[in-house]
Amino acid sequence: MQGKIVIEEHFAIPETNGVKNRVASPYWDGLNAKLLDFENMRLDEMDKGGIELAIVSLNAPAVQGVDSPKEAVDVARRANDALAEQVRRRPERFQGFAALPLQDPDAAAREFQRCVRDLGFKGALVNGYSNGPDGKTGLYYDAPMYRPFWAEVEKLGVPFYLHPRDPPPSDRYAGIPWLVGSAWSFAEETSLHALRLLSGGLFDEHPKLQLILGHLGERIPYDIWRLEHRLKYRPDCPAKKPLSQYLRENVWLTTSGHFRTQTLINAMLEVGADRILFSVDYPYEDTQPGTTWFDHAEISETDRLKIGRTNAMKLFNLG
Ligand code: ZN
Repeated sequence: MQGKIVIEEHFAIPETNGVKNRVASPYWDGLNAKLLDFENMRLDEMDKGGIELAIVSLNAPAVQGVDSPKEAVDVARRANDALAEQVRRRPERFQGFAALPLQDPDAAAREFQRCVRDLGFKGALVNGYSNGPDGKTGLYYDAPMYRPFWAEVEKLGVPFYLHPRDPPPSDRYAGIPWLVGSAWSFAEETSLHALRLLSGGLFDEHPKLQLILGHLGERIPYDIWRLEHRLKYRPDCPAKKPLSQYLRENVWLTTSGHFRTQTLINAMLEVGADRILFSVDYPYEDTQPGTTWFDHAEISETDRLKIGRTNAMKLFNLG
């Protein structure tokens, strides 16, 4: 399929680049160079994979991993300005998601306004919880101090992409370091953060908010029946609606880094093809395996067009 649009594709600025190798592996070779590049490898891979447009976002954890709120504000601003320059050069190939310094909710709301109104960004992509000032605790966005921020996001009318990062340091993964990161702990951490938002009443207070989850929903669609079934017996859960209703009204899923037809069909059965968007997760994933899988996945051509292109055009008003 030609003309695909992808929305979980990452870049870095020198301040946020530098992959910390979990273990020596050829996987990491060249990754830093690919994150810094826009015009060569990135465009070439997009062309080869039939991708017309990428909505690009900063690498992880980047701004979220900064302890000092002031420094987080500075890094976010520099990254957003650098991305805006790339969008200005090739708006037909690149659009942008804002990086936000949620260590300081008021500053994050102001930066989000600037990015949408002045830079023309299409939403924000945030890498999970933000570091607390002690560098040890995580700030999660269901906390009451974030309610004014969410009110501003709802007013701006653009989506918020909750992207993975590692869970806060603990000994839970002692002896199994290979499960830290994209194999398992990213989804564990991100799904729990998303469930804090979905079950905590945020979408009752701000029903127009739109949340995007990558990796085909960080496992939530697969578990939605059981979640909903068991929450019936929890009168202390603040959510006013069944969780599946928020999934269908407030959540969008992307295929980033999850190229599996069985999982895609499960997600389609739970939320419908109108709420799923194709994405790669470049350069953490190679483009070609993702595009080849998607172009041949056993779904209808109507659904392929929606997931590969037209859902993104509608969600981001791409015209
Ligand atoms: Zn990603």
